[in-house]
Amino acid sequence: MKRLLVLGGGTAGTMVVNKLHRRLDPGEWRITVVDQDDRHLYQPGLLLIPFGGYRADEVVKPRKRYIPDGVDLVYGEIDQVEPDRNVVALTDGRKLAYDYLVIATGTSPRPDQTPGMLGEQWRRSIFDFYTLDGAVALAEALQHFDGGRLVVHTVDIPIKCPVAPLEFTFLAEAYFRERGMRDRVEIVYATPLPGAFTKPIASAHLGSMLEDRKIALESDFLVERIEGRKLVSYDEREIDFDLLVTVPLNMGADFVARSGLGDELNYVPVDRQTFLSKKYDNIFALGDASDIPTSKAGSVAHFSVEVFTENFLEYVAGKPMTHQFDGHANCFIESGDGKAMLLDFNYDTEPLTGSYPVPGLGPFELLKESPANHWGKLAFRWIYWHLLLPGRPLPVSAHMSMAGKHRPVSSSNDSEKE
Ligand SMILES: Cc1cc2nc3c(=O)[nH]c(=O)nc-3n(C[C@H](O)[C@H](O)[C@H](O)COP(=O)(O)OP(=O)(O)OC[C@H]3O[C@@H](n4cnc5c(N)ncnc54)[C@H](O)[C@@H]3O)c2cc1C
Repeated sequence: MKRLLVLGGGTAGTMVVNKLHRRLDPGEWRITVVDQDDRHLYQPGLLLIPFGGYRADEVVKPRKRYIPDGVDLVYGEIDQVEPDRNVVALTDGRKLAYDYLVIATGTSPRPDQTPGMLGEQWRRSIFDFYTLDGAVALAEALQHFDGGRLVVHTVDIPIKCPVAPLEFTFLAEAYFRERGMRDRVEIVYATPLPGAFTKPIASAHLGSMLEDRKIALESDFLVERIEGRKLVSYDEREIDFDLLVTVPLNMGADFVARSGLGDELNYVPVDRQTFLSKKYDNIFALGDASDIPTSKAGSVAHFSVEVFTENFLEYVAGKPMTHQFDGHANCFIESGDGKAMLLDFNYDTEPLTGSYPVPGLGPFELLKESPANHWGKLAFRWIYWHLLLPGRPLPVSAHMSMAGKHRPVSSSNDSEKE
């Protein structure tokens, strides 16, 4: 029997075992997936919890439900990969051997990495919404917020769902307006980027949306420490807050570093088209765990798994991998008042205006606010549980298409990290 071991049963890990389970001969292959708990969290839902859009129990389901019969699900915390021995050690001493390894352990917010963040203001006036308990605590804090300065802040990039802090800002602005207290709240958007977003066209659109909503943009703000209710940057700029909603530094799992498999943020360096480790020829990394230079997003995990599945079947048959991932990502951006925008891009093409997925018809509009985009975002939760995780086919291509997109007069072809 050949052994495929998948580390992490989140978005990418669950999709990949569902897809490969159907394609690999059960007489020849044993597939195992490891995760530390039985709670699969629908992370995009975390955005709406602070505003009462979802309850905590609406975004969590048992992990086991999504792992197919015939795939072994092991609960345990991964301690270390021993790549020279093809073995993974769990913290309780168990060892799992593999022939092929897929690392899909994602990325996590690390408030411990910013001095002062976990001080006495943590969960009093400093909150995050990238964890379930953080989002729930923030819902409570927002309900009792009586006015003052709200600062929405990102420590550094890359973060998963790079548009989520902007979405939170737009939703907060609409939330305070609906509650009739917008005039009592000053909103500041503090980012390490030079503008509202990474790529020029999207950054200009999103920057003007901040301006229209009278939200102050504090760009190039790289936080060094937090003192009480004040953010202090490396260049000694200071931002006071009454309520801070921060996205802490995001990092890959610590075991990746312990195993000598990671970069400085514990992401696994891989070939950006095939996800094969740059160091080991039987290790791949998928989803947020890898260092590919596109957004860390569920959509990327989905498109990557499609490409990976075809390549993996070729690879284990001793053939060259003929499928290449192009960095395709799409992200809905909630903008408040029942509307959202959509971004669609890849390694080489920045987010452009136009329609998606059907040219001229949409129903989604790129880089433009519309109610259809908002309904698309809400429908995604159903799609996630019922189509995406079980690895069922979806009517969108893994590769980005230029059909329906408006080409800019001069397009930027950079592929910087998000
Ligand atoms: C607030 C928010 C909003 C988002 N919105 C969107 C959106 O609108 N659209 C979109 O496409 N994406 C969105 N995302 C991003 C998306 O959820 C992630 O990119 C996606 O889930 C990544 O999948 P993954 O499999 O790489 O990691 P995950 O789904 O995070 O899975 C990693 C798994 O590894 C396990 N694990 C980690 N370390 C260990 C260990 N040591 N031992 C055992 N198990 C371990 C974890 O328990 C987890 O189950 C959002 C994320 C957040 C936080």
